[in-house]
Amino acid sequence: MYFGLNRQPSDGLRILSDHEQLVQKTKTQLILSLIIIGVISTASFLTLNFFTQTQKADASTINIAGRQRMLSQRTALGVSMLKNQLLEKKTVSESLREQIINSAKLMHSSHVMLSSTDDPELQQLYFIGDPSLDTELNEYVKAALNIAKSQSVNDLKPKDTLYFEAENVSYLLFRLNVLVNTYEEKAESKLHNSIVLMAILWLVLLISLYLTFRLLFKPILTLIKQSFIEQKIKERRIQLAADSAQLGIWQFDLITQELTWDKQMWRIFYESEPQSDIVSLEQFQYCLHPEDAARVMHNFSEAVTDLKELDTTFRIISPNNTIKYIKVYSIAEKNEYGKAIKVVGTNKDITDQVLREDALLIAKEKAEAATRIKGDFLASMSHEIRTPLNGVMGMLNLLKNTPLNNLQNKRLDIALSSAKSLLALINDILDFSKIEADKLQIEVIDFDLNNLLEEIIESLGQLAEEKHLELILDTIGLNTSRVMGDPNRIRQVITNLIANAIKFTHEGHVILNVSLSENSNDTWQMNFSVEDTGIGIPEDKQTQLFDAFSQVDTSTTRQYGGTGLGLAIVKRLCIAMGGAINVRSKLNRGSRFYGSILLSKSTKTSIIAPTFDVTKLYVLVVDDNTVNSTIVHDQLAHWGIHVTIANSAEQAILICEEHIENHKSVFDIALIDMQMPHMNGIQLGKLLKQDPRYADMHLVLMTSMMMELDNQEIADSGFTAFFTKPVTNSDLFLALNVLGENGEALNKASPLLTHDFIRDLKHSDDHKPKSIRDNIKQLENKDILVVEDNAINQMVIEDLLSDLGFHVKCVDDGLFALTELNLRRSQPYCLILMDCQMPRMDGFETTREIRKGKAGQLNSDIPIVAITANNMQGDQQKCLDSGMNDFISKPIEQEQLERVIRSWLLAKF
Ligand code: ADP
Repeated sequence: MYFGLNRQPSDGLRILSDHEQLVQKTKTQLILSLIIIGVISTASFLTLNFFTQTQKADASTINIAGRQRMLSQRTALGVSMLKNQLLEKKTVSESLREQIINSAKLMHSSHVMLSSTDDPELQQLYFIGDPSLDTELNEYVKAALNIAKSQSVNDLKPKDTLYFEAENVSYLLFRLNVLVNTYEEKAESKLHNSIVLMAILWLVLLISLYLTFRLLFKPILTLIKQSFIEQKIKERRIQLAADSAQLGIWQFDLITQELTWDKQMWRIFYESEPQSDIVSLEQFQYCLHPEDAARVMHNFSEAVTDLKELDTTFRIISPNNTIKYIKVYSIAEKNEYGKAIKVVGTNKDITDQVLREDALLIAKEKAEAATRIKGDFLASMSHEIRTPLNGVMGMLNLLKNTPLNNLQNKRLDIALSSAKSLLALINDILDFSKIEADKLQIEVIDFDLNNLLEEIIESLGQLAEEKHLELILDTIGLNTSRVMGDPNRIRQVITNLIANAIKFTHEGHVILNVSLSENSNDTWQMNFSVEDTGIGIPEDKQTQLFDAFSQVDTSTTRQYGGTGLGLAIVKRLCIAMGGAINVRSKLNRGSRFYGSILLSKSTKTSIIAPTFDVTKLYVLVVDDNTVNSTIVHDQLAHWGIHVTIANSAEQAILICEEHIENHKSVFDIALIDMQMPHMNGIQLGKLLKQDPRYADMHLVLMTSMMMELDNQEIADSGFTAFFTKPVTNSDLFLALNVLGENGEALNKASPLLTHDFIRDLKHSDDHKPKSIRDNIKQLENKDILVVEDNAINQMVIEDLLSDLGFHVKCVDDGLFALTELNLRRSQPYCLILMDCQMPRMDGFETTREIRKGKAGQLNSDIPIVAITANNMQGDQQKCLDSGMNDFISKPIEQEQLERVIRSWLLAKF
């Protein structure tokens, strides 16, 4: 298999040396120094060559000069022999004559050569050093030639023979010797000079070589050594890291096509020490799990061919036949030109991790199953206990309505209170279990916090009253009332704390303080505290109070009942709602439980109707209709307000003046009727407001006619409020509160305080429990269908509903319910109370059928309220999912039943 590059790589790792720049610089310097060395070497060579040539020339000159001397000698010798033979009258041999002629001629040619030299120095030596030598040599040669031709002594001319006189020949030879010596000296001096020069050049060369080595080669060598060491360190570091992380490192060389493994790779794949550095692809393939092999080879091929990053997991089979999970990751490595040269990768044995994850997953599933089972158990336990308890409580309640003697009544009360305690206990245990099983869900709904708190106080009021305790609600720090959160859970927390406070206090008071502070742009922090003047809690017990089943008094003969679960639940609820709870207490002095809860801001946030002490108000009523003004007067006076009446605008102005004189201040409020003779309400308003003394007086315009002016125009005329008659007492009262307070509510009433604004304020008061029963009265004689299989429950519910004035029909299951609804078309039911678990057709199924129109189109949107024995979140959701509108849980309490019916029926009627 060949893995090559089929495209210019665009990714991967480019290996950059830390010293790259330095290397570049050194490279340039190296080239420069090599050039310098080259130049110096060439110069040395040329110089050497030049001197060699010069020496050659010098040697040849010396040679010629020597030869000339030798030829002079030889000529002189020949001439002397010839002369002797002639004197002895012997026949002179021709060879002697020839020898003389040849020597003389050669001597002449040497002379010509020496005298015609180009070297000006030699020229000078030859002629200037011995200027007569040239002529003499020429004459010498000529004389020798003449003598060589002589046949007898007579032929010898004295002029010629003079040259060959012994002292003349010696002198010539001496001169020629001097010349040769001079030449030799000259050559020697030149040689000496050239040797010196050569030595200098070599020295320079050596110095430059040394400098090059010192300044360039040495740093380069150091650099190379350093890089090498660094590379080694890096490799060792990587190897160390890889070893400690148990990473195997492999490398595929794209040029040599070789795959190499490090030690760890061998350990992972073959569980052995390395058998070779280079690994064949077959060796790699051999280990792969058959199911993963094709994919892995494909991925590997992509990684080395297309330089794709490899990041995958695969399985291998180890030599001892176990399956290992391997995580592989690779990248391409590039050279300095950006060309991929190798692919480097890591392999990690993640078998343990995978097995752990698998085990964890199994454990998680098991835990979830266990939680589900626990939840289901809780649900069924709740159902099983609540159902008979419902019967017990219902029966006891029914029994209470029958004539009983005192003893029976007392026993009945004990039985009822025991049943209630049992129910509270079950509820606590269920709640606590839900929290522990993480099944607690916190709702986020829009509600009125102020109303909720009032409700709580009202519901616990009787308990406090029985113990002659004062129960006080302090909501001064509650700057807004509409919030979003879980009102039921908040009720549970506060109720629990107040119930405890009442339980453990024998005299004095219990104060609930609630305030809101801004936590973020979207959230409030609700701070609360419940303070009592009760028995208090010893300091050492305070920390454990919030633990489950913990009570201060653990003796068997405890004075106060309870499970010790209440505060544990409260704490967990506070935490679940993003808050906390704490306690401060002094023994026999009282306790203060304080905490916080996070609430979301409501988009519907409305302003709380202020509660102002209206008895402080001075109000002027301006109306020409005396009947009207008398009614208003009486009502205001009834509320304790100081009222003055003016029957006309003119009289009003006078009264206002008088009031300033008498009270040194203006009226707080003037209620001005629009329709008056001479000067109408608007005109009066404008007139009053022109006078700066009346700036602080609130003007309220009242009219029974359609107004042509809009609110802004009325406000511009100086009025703060405007009402169309007849004004209800509650509107009027609230308006006086808002005006009297002169605070945030009035600021928000822009441009005018009107009935609509007041209604919004009033809206927040709708949930007052005292009004429930009044409202229910409107529903008397309406028909409610109860679908419930349990006969006792049927009786209890029927009794409760009849008590509220409803006509009740009970059926045993869903099928009967459908039949009943279909039969009663002429006088339809207004609501169905539906049990969930029933034989034949359960509540969920029945609801779905009704919604589908199986009980007639008329009934398809009838309100259906589930009666659930289970108080679990899932069940409630199941009810809503099947199409039911609401749910109440068993045992059914009268108040709960009333509230639900009110919310579903009042809207309809
Ligand atoms: P219990 O159902 O027993 O009241 P709680 O968890 O509500 O359970 O309270 C735990 C214990 O804390 C109580 O038994 C009581 O000893 C102590 N405690 C709670 N609230 C007060 C309080 N306001 N004053 C004195 N002791 C209190």
